Amino acid sequence: MRAAAITARGVVDVLDQPTPEARGDLVVVKILVTPMCTEFKQRRDGVLSSAIGHEAAGIVVDAGDSRRFDVGDRVAVMPHYGCGHCRVCTSGDYMHCTDQRDVLAETGQAYGTAGYAQYVLKPDWLLIRIPDDVSMKHGAMACCGLGPSFGSVERMHLDALDTFLVSGCGPVGLGAVIHGAVRDARTFAVETSPYRAALARRLGAEVVFDPTEDDVPAEVRALTGGRGADAAIETSGAPSAPRSVALSLRARGRMAIVAWAGDVVLPPVVPLGLELSGVWHWNSLALEDEMWATVRKAGPLLDEFITHVLPLEDVSAAMDLQDAGECGKILLLPHGEFDDIPA
Ligand SMILES: [Zn+2]
Ligand SMILES: [Zn+2]
Repeated sequence: MRAAAITARGVVDVLDQPTPEARGDLVVVKILVTPMCTEFKQRRDGVLSSAIGHEAAGIVVDAGDSRRFDVGDRVAVMPHYGCGHCRVCTSGDYMHCTDQRDVLAETGQAYGTAGYAQYVLKPDWLLIRIPDDVSMKHGAMACCGLGPSFGSVERMHLDALDTFLVSGCGPVGLGAVIHGAVRDARTFAVETSPYRAALARRLGAEVVFDPTEDDVPAEVRALTGGRGADAAIETSGAPSAPRSVALSLRARGRMAIVAWAGDVVLPPVVPLGLELSGVWHWNSLALEDEMWATVRKAGPLLDEFITHVLPLEDVSAAMDLQDAGECGKILLLPHGEFDDIPA
């Protein structure tokens, strides 16, 4: 199979690798759509790897001994390789499992755990079935396109009475803006890139603040009668962002942090009464139906969010777009274009 690899600082190639084989509960998915996440940072930083990417959607081509899936089933692939037995795995919070399976060692294979590839090996319980009325490209948004922000809005019980502040409009933050639109919340965003600010507006943000020019907490209060936002998500990773977001919230406001930025600097949270969540992803065991309801309702917003669709062989040019920030969500097609239901 063809698979992408970071072979030097600034260099991503597409190479030949052995196609993985199913065994036991480990099934093989033919990847039709690979949403791009933060792998471009690995290329930029020279983190060499022949197994990149954790997002994928496609078709089961070898179901092994699975009793959940058959050959031909359309699936979205959830990240990581949680043990499947511990308390966080069985509750669906497998992102936080500290006992990850080494499925390559288990099966004696060298490759097959990456999303930037034509095939991937995955435990069946970490696949979710894409409904027949949802296209493969929209189904792929159940990975990180909508996933971390979905976990966040669920934890914060975001609804139509809320004013929602989205800090950072990279692919995760843009997904959060879509959740604001789907849930009919009044949504504000924070972003420095003009390209991404414009995209956030098209996805439903009422206002997009530029933190290099605007006093964000003051602007949010001015637009909410002095009250502050009800809920907020921090996706930017900017060191000053958590403090600014917290100060933009009303008393007893809810805040989710999804950015990986080391230690988080916050103002005193007790007088604010903040409800604070650290969110990595979403619970696909508990909330699968709600995710598909979101995907259906988002509809055309997802096509606005997906700004580029390219063959896997163009991964280098796609990462150039990510380096420049001139994109929303980018999809790679490891087998080129394919027949699918209309989006
Ligand atoms: Zn586990
Ligand atoms: Zn991701």
